[in-house]
Amino acid sequence: MRNTLSHTLRKTLIALALVTSFAASAQVLAAQEKIALSGEVKQGGLMVGKTLPQNTVTLNGKEITVSNSGNFTFGFSRDDIQSYQLAVTSVNGDRVEKTLTPQKRSYNIQRIEGIKKSIMQPNPKAVARSQADNKKIKTARKVSSPLNYFAHGFVAPIEGTITGVYGSQRVYNGVPKRPHFGLDYAGKTGDPVKAPASGTVLLWVPDMFYSGGTMIIDHGQGVSSTFLHLSNSYVKQGDEVKQGQVVAAVGKSGRATGPHLDWRINWFNVKIDPALVLKINPLH
Ligand SMILES: [Zn+2]
Repeated sequence: MRNTLSHTLRKTLIALALVTSFAASAQVLAAQEKIALSGEVKQGGLMVGKTLPQNTVTLNGKEITVSNSGNFTFGFSRDDIQSYQLAVTSVNGDRVEKTLTPQKRSYNIQRIEGIKKSIMQPNPKAVARSQADNKKIKTARKVSSPLNYFAHGFVAPIEGTITGVYGSQRVYNGVPKRPHFGLDYAGKTGDPVKAPASGTVLLWVPDMFYSGGTMIIDHGQGVSSTFLHLSNSYVKQGDEVKQGQVVAAVGKSGRATGPHLDWRINWFNVKIDPALVLKINPLH
């Protein structure tokens, strides 16, 4: 009896804390809140939340995973103009809702001339190779593991100057291409690349057609890091890695103009801005 009462009371308090949190702002919220939501409500933003593990969380009516420590996550794409209804329902039916509308951004346009014709108009063999590569990448990014390392904050994979940003659109030889979704860092071939968050290595392929040495690390619940153009890997598929651990080396493999690290973040197939992910407050 006493147990049930305190349980109910706790639920009510949780619900109230959530209301307070949302009223304060959907931005980074104080860690002392019972339920917190961290991240920027912006195109390319990743949201990281925490609630009671037994609560149900839905985004536009679709249930999203809540880890057994209560963490959940979702993100907004580059050109996302939808509004999202986030709902948290406790086991006794208390329900709190919040509408999130990602803030619009404007992106840079980069003009790159002098790309080889063989890349501009790849031959059928190259097309087939890159399609096979994309299939592997897509499959890896579909993985939904119970890990919750995405909630513990991210660190930059290298200490290089940023030379390319998320969302920028490249115009090769005057032809607009698909936007760039990575954060590019200047680096030398062989420079150590660290895991931005702990996780499991989902994929390592040394020689993809466009992206060369390509590694994907799972941080849990569909959140993954992808590194492109690597010259080497110090881990293999299935390995568990710790945040800050050196996992690979910078390179210029695949179709790269020079050695650099291209780091990407995904929430399943939603392409997230790594620069925004670096600003997320950890929610343990
Ligand atoms: Zn890049």
